[in-house]
Amino acid sequence: MKYTPWQLPENPFDYVKLISCRDGIGIIPKNKLGCKIGIIGAGCSGLCAAYELMKIGLHPVIYESSKNIDGTPRIGGRAYTYHFPGDPNAFAELGAMRIPPLHRTLKYYMDKFNIDYSQPFPDPLTVPTTLYFEGKKYFIPLGGVLPTFVKKASDAWEGLINPLIKKISSAWDNPELRKKQWQEYVKEYANKSFYQVLYEHGLSAREIKYFGSMGLGTGGFDSLYPISFIEILRLTVCQWEKDQRLIKGGFSQIPETFWSNRRKCQHWGLSSVGQLNNNKPLRAVREIYTPPDPLEKVSITDIDGNTEKYDAVIVTCSLRALEMGIKVNRNTFSDEIWSAIQNNHMMRSGKIFVRTKDAFWKNKSPESTINCTITDEAIRGCYLFDFDNTSSGVICMSYTWEDASTKFHALSENDRVMKCVSILKTIYGEDFISDQVVESISFFWEHAKGYNGAFKLNYPGQYKDQSILFHQPISSSPETHNGVYLAGETISWAGGWIEGAIHSGLDSSMSVIQRLGGKLSGIISKRRDIT
Ligand SMILES: Cc1cc2nc3c(=O)[nH]c(=O)nc-3n(C[C@H](O)[C@H](O)[C@H](O)COP(=O)(O)OP(=O)(O)OC[C@H]3O[C@@H](n4cnc5c(N)ncnc54)[C@H](O)[C@@H]3O)c2cc1C
Repeated sequence: MKYTPWQLPENPFDYVKLISCRDGIGIIPKNKLGCKIGIIGAGCSGLCAAYELMKIGLHPVIYESSKNIDGTPRIGGRAYTYHFPGDPNAFAELGAMRIPPLHRTLKYYMDKFNIDYSQPFPDPLTVPTTLYFEGKKYFIPLGGVLPTFVKKASDAWEGLINPLIKKISSAWDNPELRKKQWQEYVKEYANKSFYQVLYEHGLSAREIKYFGSMGLGTGGFDSLYPISFIEILRLTVCQWEKDQRLIKGGFSQIPETFWSNRRKCQHWGLSSVGQLNNNKPLRAVREIYTPPDPLEKVSITDIDGNTEKYDAVIVTCSLRALEMGIKVNRNTFSDEIWSAIQNNHMMRSGKIFVRTKDAFWKNKSPESTINCTITDEAIRGCYLFDFDNTSSGVICMSYTWEDASTKFHALSENDRVMKCVSILKTIYGEDFISDQVVESISFFWEHAKGYNGAFKLNYPGQYKDQSILFHQPISSSPETHNGVYLAGETISWAGGWIEGAIHSGLDSSMSVIQRLGGKLSGIISKRRDIT
């Protein structure tokens, strides 16, 4: 076996093997066919679980709290493609916006659903790029070289990371050795911050600063300095920052297709998740009640006070949304799991987009106009988008994490846009944008009800909690588990990626099958299959 970094070091389970089984991910006993399973959240995780459970004859019942501007329930969660009202052909990715094809579970579904991810994402250095640091501007044409001070910092980083990657990649074809090597890394790095590891490796304060601005190529990594180094190492070992793609037509297509795709299913015949849900998810969940006897059904109460009982419930909303938005009784989670729910760290993140009359930068020489921008100014990262079916352009004027995101909170929408424009004018000159801006949207996930944060990336010292959360769906045997299964990106090892959200939805679905006395697909020899 070669170095195939699609496998997560902690959970090298082959989900593609599971979902490509012709008869679905498992078999449900006849008397349980049509059984209702409550699923909280219509994001990628919940809808992937719903889709696979529907395929094998169960009835996923979806609850969703987010709404579209017109008040209808919004499908998609943090895969949120916002279409500008003035030109719906122009859109802004408010949540997920890049996919490395190494995310092969997601890739499998996108191929099945004919979702086009062939176009590269306009990441820094893959397009003409401007670096603007400490008041100085550096233009890097396509194929150009980094300014010396950034290159030096980047080389210092390579000196740290390359030997670590080399060591584990040479052990990759031997599951036992790979596991042992990763455990050594966990021991060494899970309790250290990213900053501490850079510092201990001998990077100077300036190198750390410059490396932080440019990061692994996608910018803004200094916002991650307080994060556990093991999160960064996982990301780098798995090469998720490489060959990133955008989705033509927008990321919302992923959850929307899980919802609308009609396919042949056990028990239902031709059906879609939407159809089983009368084309509308149920309302936001207010309460989960788990009876003391694990054989009894779990109750879900929505915000209108309607209560339904389920053989099993999958909770996919972010752990912050669960803690702050849903009342749960003490039987639902052990004290250890509840404490891990409370400790989990979610990043803050905001984006500010404008739609412009046209993609004006396309008709100019790159040196003379706005480019993909990485800067230490408040906007941090700026990306440019154009579309096949409209002349409108879209600029993500600012993409920020953590403190950089917080800086914009107190400003009104208009002031946020004005601040971004003023910074971009400093970089590109007074008239670069002139009267181009037509409409705007800004979104800060830590402010959004039902999310309360952007994505999981844990601090040093939280590895054990992460492991507890990830294993919650198999924390006791199928017979004694109380039937409430955690899923969603925040419990996954691959925090911040749809791939992890989908894995967790599939993990919980497997637990549901086992709880109902069903069998997992014959291809799965054990739940934490080491391949
Ligand atoms: C700014 C940002 C950038 C990102 N960039 C990328 C990227 O480039 N590539 C990538 O792969 N991933 C990226 N991600 C991560 C990716 O978006 C998530 O991993 C994924 O969308 C999470 O899916 P989920 O189903 O686990 O959770 P969610 O999408 O959050 O779904 C959970 C759902 O639960 C609902 N909910 C909450 N409370 C309740 C309630 N009480 N009752 C009913 N429903 C409720 C929510 O409204 C939501 O729809 C990014 C995320 C953010 C925020």
